[in-house]
Amino acid sequence: MFKSRPSHLFLILNSKTILVVNIKIKIVSLGKVPKKILEKVREELKIAFRMVGDITHTDRLPKSTYNQFRNQYRSHEVLNFLEKNYEGRILGITNEDLYTESLNFVFGQAKMRGRVALISISRLDPAFFRQPEDEDLFEGRAVKEAIHEVGHMTFGLGHCRNRECVMSFSNTIGDVDIKTKYLCDMCKMQIGL
Ligand SMILES: [Zn+2]
Ligand SMILES: [Zn+2]
Repeated sequence: MFKSRPSHLFLILNSKTILVVNIKIKIVSLGKVPKKILEKVREELKIAFRMVGDITHTDRLPKSTYNQFRNQYRSHEVLNFLEKNYEGRILGITNEDLYTESLNFVFGQAKMRGRVALISISRLDPAFFRQPEDEDLFEGRAVKEAIHEVGHMTFGLGHCRNRECVMSFSNTIGDVDIKTKYLCDMCKMQIGL
């Protein structure tokens, strides 16, 4: 069901896939992302998927991925940028707003069963909705979106109908707040957790 890389991430046993070792991931901060968010995401990826994260910083997203008329960045092009410029498994986190051709904005995007994923914290900040500062809420939202995109990228998980499952699709910030940072039992079963 999953293509294992040379480091053998999974053990196939009786057609069930079992996660056996720590998986490495590079968390790439693109632009101005609060350190606490990066640390929190690293911590929670370890809890959720036993992933060992390493944080690196870059100044900004490439200009070629920017749409000046929308003041947003094209997420699939940013994913291509990450794939081209970084080795290994990558989660990009940016403070800039992202979109794809078919959607006004996206909280994140990933290459399904690939090695690059991306989230934007722009619309996760309560300040975006003119609400009072709330670090816990802000960090919690970033964690959910990070786990969601990594679920697509590394485990090939699709969207889940359980609205509390971290793999449910978020169209609005309300959807992000309804879901938890946890996989539901069905999704867990799919990846052998
Ligand atoms: Zn998704
Ligand atoms: Zn689920």
